[in-house]
Amino acid sequence: MLSNSNIAELLAQQAERETGILSRAFRRAARSAFLWPENAANLVEQNRPLTELRGIGPFIAKQLLRWIDKPPQLSKTIPDIRRNFISLAEARRQLAIKPGWSKKLRGDLQMHTRWSDGSGTIGEMVDAARERSYEYIAITDHSKGLKFAGGVDERALRKQSTEIAKLNSSASQLAGKFTILRSLELNLNVRGEGDMSSASLSALDLVLGSFHSSLRMIDDQTDRYLAALRNPNIQILGHPRGRIYNYRLGLKADWPRVFAEAARLGKALEIDCYPDRQDLSVDLLKVAREHGVLISLGTDAHHPWQLEFIDLGLAAALRARLPAQRIVNFMSTPDLKRWIQQLRDRRMRK
Ligand SMILES: [Zn+2]
Repeated sequence: MLSNSNIAELLAQQAERETGILSRAFRRAARSAFLWPENAANLVEQNRPLTELRGIGPFIAKQLLRWIDKPPQLSKTIPDIRRNFISLAEARRQLAIKPGWSKKLRGDLQMHTRWSDGSGTIGEMVDAARERSYEYIAITDHSKGLKFAGGVDERALRKQSTEIAKLNSSASQLAGKFTILRSLELNLNVRGEGDMSSASLSALDLVLGSFHSSLRMIDDQTDRYLAALRNPNIQILGHPRGRIYNYRLGLKADWPRVFAEAARLGKALEIDCYPDRQDLSVDLLKVAREHGVLISLGTDAHHPWQLEFIDLGLAAALRARLPAQRIVNFMSTPDLKRWIQQLRDRRMRK
């Protein structure tokens, strides 16, 4: 049976044969295959229309049907730019075999709201998270340097913190057990420096730092990672490689050295669970496991429904056989806060 990952590869290859609008349609469809919750082939078996799948119109559905009826020979070599991605259907199948794993999850540590380039309010993200029985979420809007993503400056961040404080007091009245963490996706330059004042960052519960520029360099970027990890203001390094499915390969580094340094500092690297990021991927997570580094899961959701992407990160961590105690999202709220406090205290002592 043709898996959704195979379908994605067929769609991506078809995009390369087409031009213009058709090429773009196949490219887009290839990306969306990773977030279909069920196997397309199963839908066909159940006589359901393939247009039920996200991002699939009648034209592509017809092509999919032909492939599912008569699976074409797939070349074994998937290009690196499309390799090591898990489909949501695969992830769910894998997580269903070990239901205890997903149950350990307490929250999601990367998401965006209307304060930057997300579509939901903080309240809507909270509702979506509570539906998933989370204990916490981190609101990580972009920082001011990322202008095209509507990054927030120090003043906006303070206003957002006030809104979060209000919501936290009302959320705890409702459930007594939900925390919105004041956070930020701090934009880092190639020297690992952020674009916000240290004072505004220390006022937050948690800071994620990410690179959003010079992501196509082909030489070794180890120094950039070491500098980012040593930045005293951040606790988590977001979407480390900066790869995007079928678009950007991501950066190269001496990963064992990067992971060892993160482990030494007690900081976490992220699995950005967004379907076309999946960054870190399983191959690197296996290396990370050997170095004892902490791992954080973040969906990078830009809409409330996208919190479901967390399954891609859970499955990747499971596949890489990461020990549960290394995953920061498996910590309770007090333990998570204690970990962050420890990192900050260590910084003070230096
Ligand atoms: Zn980002």
